[in-house]
Amino acid sequence: MIYKKREVPLRIMQNEAALRRLPPNYEKVPLIEADLKKRKAGYYGEKRVDYHLSFLNDKKYMIFHDIRLPLNPHYFQIDTLVVTPHYALIIEVKNLTGIMRIDPQIRQCTRIYNDKTEGFIDPVSQVTRQKLLLQKWFLVNKLKAPPIDFLVVISNPATILEYTTLPKPLSSYLKIIHSQNLIDRIMDLNSQFSSKMVSDIDIAKIKRAILKNHSSQEYNFLEKLNIPKEAILRGVQCKKCNFIPLQRVSSSWFCSKCSSFSDQDAIEDYLLLIDNKHTNRDLRWFLNLESQKIATKILKSSNLLSSGTLKGTTYSRGRVT
Ligand SMILES: [Zn+2]
Repeated sequence: MIYKKREVPLRIMQNEAALRRLPPNYEKVPLIEADLKKRKAGYYGEKRVDYHLSFLNDKKYMIFHDIRLPLNPHYFQIDTLVVTPHYALIIEVKNLTGIMRIDPQIRQCTRIYNDKTEGFIDPVSQVTRQKLLLQKWFLVNKLKAPPIDFLVVISNPATILEYTTLPKPLSSYLKIIHSQNLIDRIMDLNSQFSSKMVSDIDIAKIKRAILKNHSSQEYNFLEKLNIPKEAILRGVQCKKCNFIPLQRVSSSWFCSKCSSFSDQDAIEDYLLLIDNKHTNRDLRWFLNLESQKIATKILKSSNLLSSGTLKGTTYSRGRVT
């Protein structure tokens, strides 16, 4: 059963919002497009692996997608965590195209694609580290946890996995698998870990602790990419022809270019690109709106959380206080 769903990553939504709101010839547009393409491929790869996992419908499997847990002074992230009373399984998803060539002896990984050879981080070392961090996290949070195992799952069925020398039996490098074999490997784990290691009460505590401690990553997009906020096109955008800005006409937004009406979803773009909270005044600046009254009306219908009073009232999605 899925207890934490995989959501569209923030960085994908920010890239898309930036591409909607930067002039097409802006110098950083190609960079943003390339980053978006890479992240979308990774996200779709993870979704492909999720599809295989969706066949585990027995409620003994607690599935958490894309979790980020605090471990002083940092956070660690896990693509997918499956917890059962018998074992916990960390799944690290790799979305590489071409040939993945691995030398288990010197722990060197190379990817060959389009006649280009490049190195990539050893996924086994990476997931071994995640296992240690998760063990520590269970300990710090005083949680009685089952033994932890891991798998590295290749999401693209066309990717070819090659070893320069065959891994020894029981080598962790045999835990790199193609996604279509995931369920079979989980069935093997069920036989391997046949005894129940923790009680149902402990399992419920683990579930609560993960959901309570998970925290999504914030990312100050414009600052990180060194884009001044003045470069972002302000105003409500036409859903039909992408023209900016629309005019406020009797409780709706009118496009003078294609003569259609649109709803406003500019607040979402503000929260993604400019700041994760805003005041009535910020909204008026972003929507090119003079009326404070109309801005208040829009904010009231936006389902955002408000905090503070009068002019200092800020509105946010509630992810950040
Ligand atoms: Zn239009």
